[in-house]
Amino acid sequence: MRGVSRTVVTVDIFGRCQSYTESREARAANLYPYFIPFEGHDATVAQTLDGDILMCGSNNYLGLTSDPRVKAAAQAAIEEYGTSRTGSRLLNGNTPLHDKLEQELADFVGMPAALVFPTGYQANVGVIASLLSRHDVVILDREAHASVYDGGGMSRAKTRRFAHNDMGDLERQLAASPSDAGRLVVVDGVYSMAGDLCPLTEVVRLCRQYGARLLVDDAHGIGVLADGRGTSAHFGVTDQVDLVTVTFSKSLASIGGAVLGPEDVIEYLRHHARSLIFSASAPPASLAAAYAALGILKAEPWLCQQATENASYVRRELTALGYDPVPSETPIVSVRLDDVPQTLLAWRNLLDRGVYVNAVIPPAASPRLRASFSTTHTPEQLKRVVAAFAEVGDLMSLEDQ
Ligand code: PMP
Repeated sequence: MRGVSRTVVTVDIFGRCQSYTESREARAANLYPYFIPFEGHDATVAQTLDGDILMCGSNNYLGLTSDPRVKAAAQAAIEEYGTSRTGSRLLNGNTPLHDKLEQELADFVGMPAALVFPTGYQANVGVIASLLSRHDVVILDREAHASVYDGGGMSRAKTRRFAHNDMGDLERQLAASPSDAGRLVVVDGVYSMAGDLCPLTEVVRLCRQYGARLLVDDAHGIGVLADGRGTSAHFGVTDQVDLVTVTFSKSLASIGGAVLGPEDVIEYLRHHARSLIFSASAPPASLAAAYAALGILKAEPWLCQQATENASYVRRELTALGYDPVPSETPIVSVRLDDVPQTLLAWRNLLDRGVYVNAVIPPAASPRLRASFSTTHTPEQLKRVVAAFAEVGDLMSLEDQ
């Protein structure tokens, strides 16, 4: 109508940012547990503005990030290849380091072939999104890693979840999904938040029974279980698992990831995984560091056992103190707490006593403290961690009274 201006109603996508106040409130209350600038390069001690802390919240399970051999390999790779390849592997970004690392990983884990991605996240997303289409079904453990869910979302396959490690529920989901659809079951070998293992023998059996393919995300199993060979080797089912993804950002002291599987599938993924093709390759220094770490792991398999023993000691001591850590045979110690405020307060009190652990809150997982241990934590450091938990436990039970 002439002379009457029409009001255009728009939705401002920044509105959700303006109403997001949680992080600012937590900072104001000195209870913000994220993005702390840590300095130093030791696996077990880091420097913060509040002083030195014991690092019990990293995935540096073997402590190899500051190993002179790993650092020297990274430095030599910078000299040889520069700081970045500035492009995708498909085009200018590939190096002999990628090819060597793929060969070594496949041999070590015991799978026919491997494909290196810039990160483990991209490996999961790339594999799942390029193998499945909207006609297929992806069946995920409820506690599988976010990257697995994101890959499922990108693939547009129908996503079905089964209750964590619940084989009855997995079977129900398999039985309920149409047999004329492609089916992929995805589990973590070791669940990062609780440190518990997937019952892989049973998962393999069900996948075979229902004709589904199986992908095991072994980010926390590689370098930890079965002399570092991972969860499939731990259960003796490597030859029955279709695909394994691994990351270099934990035991392998670097950044990057890979998928391992049959040669034809790897060749297909090499040319179809968008997160590989449309993203620059991992820096040469990172690949060389992962390669060196893998070499050390092969030569010194006892490194893995020590990390797990350190965590077992802490788990035992925490149980004696009245905590209820999740049982596990990995370097991860997970202590579930009642709610978010209690988790943040416990986290803060531990940090005030010089111990950094991960404060985990929804949506990542139910509220808990997640501590993780390294081969290089000393007995004296572990005692200090336990002493800090003892004091914080006393404080919290006083508050409960
Ligand atoms: N899967 C799991 C189970 C993980 O814990 C992680 C890292 N937190 C990833 C995948 C992603 O690995 P990356 O850090 O290499 O992206």
